[in-house]
Amino acid sequence: MTVWKRCSSSDPGNEGPALFLDRDGVVIVDRGYLSDPDQVELLPGVAETMRAAADDGYLLIGVSNQSGLGRGLFTAGDLGRVMARLDQLLAREGTGFNGFYYCPHIPQKGCRCRKPATGLFDEAAESCRWDPTRSWVVGDKISDVAFGQKGGWGRSWCAPATAPNMRTR
Ligand SMILES: [Mg+2]
Ligand SMILES: [Zn+2]
Repeated sequence: MTVWKRCSSSDPGNEGPALFLDRDGVVIVDRGYLSDPDQVELLPGVAETMRAAADDGYLLIGVSNQSGLGRGLFTAGDLGRVMARLDQLLAREGTGFNGFYYCPHIPQKGCRCRKPATGLFDEAAESCRWDPTRSWVVGDKISDVAFGQKGGWGRSWCAPATAPNMRTR
């Protein structure tokens, strides 16, 4: 498991709701093993949705499989630049992640952190608490849904990849 941004809450004693967001195909356009920061493009409605959720007290936690690292298709430096660009675009819209966790492994590795395995939840739980009965996982793949179900940390919701506007769906 690897941390891009360790989860923190302005009120760590309070178990509020959390919104777990997959990255590719949910927050940004899924380019397939994205390595170029210039290719980072927010999906419509996402920043607005994140802002509204944060206003309602949700922690915003990114959870992403990034097997391109394990496959050698891009480097940790590439990923860092992509994430920095994403942070910048979200900040411009007045929002951002409270925490962001990713799995760098290939599927064959059988690691604990590749969704639908629940290691990314465990890692987030080391520094953040949330109320599972009020929390959600949003992804664009069945593995995201299974992740939420297996973790028992929240309800899962699968955004259709072809219509990823979370606000209207
Ligand atoms: Mg995805
Ligand atoms: Zn992993």
